[in-house]
Amino acid sequence: MPETIPLTERTRVVRESHRGAYDRETIYKILDEGFVCHIGFAVDGQPYVIPTLFARVGDAIYFHGSAASRMLRNVSDGISVCVTVTLTDGFVLARSVFNHSMNYRSVVALGKATLVDVPEEKLKALHAFTEKILPGRWNDARPPNEKELKASSILRLPLAEVSAKMRVGPPEDDAPDYALPVWAGVIPLSLRPGAPIRDERCDPSIPTPAYVAHYQR
Ligand SMILES: Cc1cc2nc3c(=O)[nH]c(=O)nc-3n(C[C@H](O)[C@H](O)[C@H](O)COP(=O)(O)OP(=O)(O)OC[C@H]3O[C@@H](n4cnc5c(N)ncnc54)[C@H](O)[C@@H]3O)c2cc1C
Repeated sequence: MPETIPLTERTRVVRESHRGAYDRETIYKILDEGFVCHIGFAVDGQPYVIPTLFARVGDAIYFHGSAASRMLRNVSDGISVCVTVTLTDGFVLARSVFNHSMNYRSVVALGKATLVDVPEEKLKALHAFTEKILPGRWNDARPPNEKELKASSILRLPLAEVSAKMRVGPPEDDAPDYALPVWAGVIPLSLRPGAPIRDERCDPSIPTPAYVAHYQR
């Protein structure tokens, strides 16, 4: 049985509630496939939503805290955030404009993000970011030095109040509209890597690593 995250009044999916999911397996799969999250937080009543890279390690996510960390300097117990990750899987073309939709998988996580100040944990988060982008990269690139580690502000959000929502499948039209002579179906969408482009200043004698040459998603 997959472990379910306890539902709260804040994480209950309301509209199309059958699309909601609260088990860690579903939620973690979406988080691990996504690269970019959007972090929402409020400062003096003004909401900000900032896109940034993230990685999941166990039951928490780590993200760069360049924006939120400014406020965190004086808030030792953390800052309330809403983190959203969205995977767009397809355009859903219905017979009526109203029933057009998207296939997607998304996660919303609520809670208090805290600044990571233990160097070993910072290193673990940077390792997770790097290996998530490209497994094998951490061992090839120069590791962060003490100054760089100090300059990296990283936030940690425990995955305790989280929901997923997914739409899959064909369009859902109103019964009479199925008779309309209108093309209907799904245009699948996916993130595809292109051919690698060598940096002009990269010594041509350096071979392209296999994880770059054969990168697949
Ligand atoms: C690419 C994309 C396109 C979408 N297009 C539309 C659209 O055109 N119209 C529309 O009504 N909705 C759309 N949605 C769904 C939208 O994200 C919300 O789910 C919906 O607007 C409101 O749901 P709710 O009543 O549960 O919201 P709320 O009451 O705002 O949410 C209650 C709680 O439900 C959970 N929740 C809500 N939405 C999500 C989600 N997407 N993923 C994970 N948890 C969630 C959160 O924990 C939230 O706190 C789209 C989603 C995606 C990812």
